[in-house]
Amino acid sequence: MSPEESALIAKKLKLLMELRGAGIGDARVLGAIEKVPREIFVPPSFRDSAYENVALPIGHGQTVSQPSVVALMTEKLELGERHNVLEIGTGSGYQTAVLARLSRRVFTIERHRALLAAAERRFAELKLYNIVARLGDGARGWREQPPFDRILVTAAAREIPAALREALAPGGILLAPVGKERRGQRLMRIRREEEGFLAEDLGPVHFVPLVGGLPRPAVGPRR
Ligand code: SAH
Repeated sequence: MSPEESALIAKKLKLLMELRGAGIGDARVLGAIEKVPREIFVPPSFRDSAYENVALPIGHGQTVSQPSVVALMTEKLELGERHNVLEIGTGSGYQTAVLARLSRRVFTIERHRALLAAAERRFAELKLYNIVARLGDGARGWREQPPFDRILVTAAAREIPAALREALAPGGILLAPVGKERRGQRLMRIRREEEGFLAEDLGPVHFVPLVGGLPRPAVGPRR
């Protein structure tokens, strides 16, 4: 093992202890975080910081979430190994990979083509064959596949898109950051019950915004 690799492993163990200290008690969630190599989800220049408990830039103005937030969201989803999960905002694919280790299948949607392509390469490299990824506006849901047992939105919207609530199976759980500004967002957990939806506020979070539609293709000067 190279000195870089052993340094990363030492940092990963330290991070796992921090997560435990911060109240993440689900051994399956900690195990998934231990097994997914975050260093391959960040740009090479940030590899040394892959196991610091911070969000890191992944290009196109987007970030891979802080490990403690990934751990908290994964734990609060109460995932079971037979669950079908819908994720909105693939980004680097790091959160997707953690979900994929704890569920039957993950359907994930990203609106940036380049981010999606990079994430798909990582899923193949890690042999995570239970992930189906597509380009699109996740606020509209994944029309061919509902209902989903679990839905995770990793970008903040002013309100939870109705199409996503409706895509939730009975007894299902949806987790989403809600709030317009980066400050003042709350992580909301919605359970679909017989009588309707039950909402819980899980505390403050900071996510990039959920943006409608696809980015416009870059138009350069004609030559
Ligand atoms: N979970 C990611 C972090 C996501 S950052 C990770 O672990 O790396 C949020 C992502 O949501 C960004 O990549 C952004 O491009 C994407 N996004 C924002 N609005 C979206 C939408 N309407 N549909 C799909 N993806 C969206």
